[in-house]
Amino acid sequence: MADIPFLHTHDFQYGVIEPVSEGVRRLTARNPGPFTFHGTGTYIVGEGEVAVIDPGPDDPGHVQALLDGLAKETISHIIVTHCHQDHSPAARPLQAATGAKTYGFGPHGHPGGDQAVHMEEGIDLAFSPDISVTDGDSISGRNWELCCVHTPGHTSNHMCFSWEQHDLLFSGDHVMGWSTTVIIPPDGNMTDYLTSLEKLRKRSDACLWPTHGPPVTDPALYILALIEHRLARIKAIRELLRTGTQRINDMVPSLYPDIQPTLRTAAGLSTLASLEHLQRLGEVTALEDTGRGVLFSYTG
Ligand SMILES: [Zn+2]
Repeated sequence: MADIPFLHTHDFQYGVIEPVSEGVRRLTARNPGPFTFHGTGTYIVGEGEVAVIDPGPDDPGHVQALLDGLAKETISHIIVTHCHQDHSPAARPLQAATGAKTYGFGPHGHPGGDQAVHMEEGIDLAFSPDISVTDGDSISGRNWELCCVHTPGHTSNHMCFSWEQHDLLFSGDHVMGWSTTVIIPPDGNMTDYLTSLEKLRKRSDACLWPTHGPPVTDPALYILALIEHRLARIKAIRELLRTGTQRINDMVPSLYPDIQPTLRTAAGLSTLASLEHLQRLGEVTALEDTGRGVLFSYTG
């Protein structure tokens, strides 16, 4: 399996709004976990009149810390990368307290029957932005302007935001330095994810600021490693199918030999996302469900 140069050193403090880059501050929520690393990093862009990116989970303490820390400033915009439970729910209390409008690509793309609803990184179905933005749109406030970069894959409504003036991009859960992202069908889509990785790789941002964990300071090389890792995983799935392994549950132990039990469901769903990608390429057919899971067959 291709090596990804993960970054596991993350300097931060809970409960404190910390300056992390010119014009950018961050407050980390106390929601550490297998999908969130040390917690959600809520970014504050600008000074005096600011935008908040990914306000975070439904945690009154986090929202209060944000309001207290910005008591002498105005929150003029609330921007959301995607509507997972660790990103968007705090938009509601924050909007109630500030009156700021919310911005995002749109509500969740698959409101019914999504397995992610039952997982820790669940969906915030209630979130719908006041202002829907699409690829290439810009959002601006006093002394800052962000450009919207649509990056479907982790979710269909995932949006990154670049601040060209500072040569940086807020990458949400699309590209994170500490971990790969989970792709959970039907809303998560491996084909779109690979295309969205290529899209960021071709850009020239000097630094990525993910919502979880440390910044990625060598984006082009790092993203290439992410792409190679996924392609290696897809190749391994092809090999398993060729040698007669047809069920996801039988694939996961050999694809992820050292996985933590808490991440096994996510691994199975990511495998499904890769199988769906191979179906789109015309290489795989899903056969009937025999009661122990769908049988996939390799048709080349
Ligand atoms: Zn997410």
